[in-house]
Amino acid sequence: MKGHSIFKFSVLSSGSRGNCIYLESDVAKIIIDSGLSVRELKRRLMTIGRTPEELDAVFLTHEHSDHIGGVGPLVRKHGIPLYATEGTVRAGEKLGSIPGFSTIRAGEAVHIDGLEIEPYATLHDARESVAYVVRCQNRKLGHATDMGRVTHEVREKLKNSHVLLVESNHDVEMLDVGPYPWPVKQRIKGELGHLSNEACGELLAAVSHEHLERVLLMHLSQTNNHSEIARITALQALGSSTPHLELAQQDQATELIAV
Ligand SMILES: [Zn+2]
Ligand SMILES: [Zn+2]
Repeated sequence: MKGHSIFKFSVLSSGSRGNCIYLESDVAKIIIDSGLSVRELKRRLMTIGRTPEELDAVFLTHEHSDHIGGVGPLVRKHGIPLYATEGTVRAGEKLGSIPGFSTIRAGEAVHIDGLEIEPYATLHDARESVAYVVRCQNRKLGHATDMGRVTHEVREKLKNSHVLLVESNHDVEMLDVGPYPWPVKQRIKGELGHLSNEACGELLAAVSHEHLERVLLMHLSQTNNHSEIARITALQALGSSTPHLELAQQDQATELIAV
């Protein structure tokens, strides 16, 4: 099945300098967020053989600039329909005028040519933030970034995923002794902040199952984390189950990967 999957994705960018995830079925092509300039997005799409002109939709998680920084110019230039919560659009002044906007709500899936995109609510310091579960045929990709805590709902949503994209933002000790001002440290560690390596590991342990094939660690802090600490924490949490594990990068896209 896996080798014939028509459901593919690439993490085009992940981290506080810009986030973007590309997903496709055999017909539909979408992205979740774009903190990249239009030009940089185009360059990264080219590395997986795709172009911005082909995009059928842009979905947003929340209004922070590392997620929406490049979205206004992108959707205006290429006339791409935008899907976001009411709260995200209201809070996202930087988006500017939007040609085609559809409101999404947590728990209500959107269908675009074979892709089922379901937003779910997250705890984050944003107006109405969401993360996504995406299904295509019998395959499932679970996404969980930009959240301060893993709720029961997050675990329920991510169950039975074949691929997981999960935030592993910081190492708590590195954050504590690091250079950020105290209020920023409190924000990152707080209920509306970001998932630590440990929190990522607990989530992975809770939702891991025999058909989980691939895990990507997302949104790593370049100041408050080391890739090896994040990797080892995730590997230990996954224990004897051995999905393919990799770290999403800030500066380059992953390959186009079959779910
Ligand atoms: Zn972010
Ligand atoms: Zn954020």
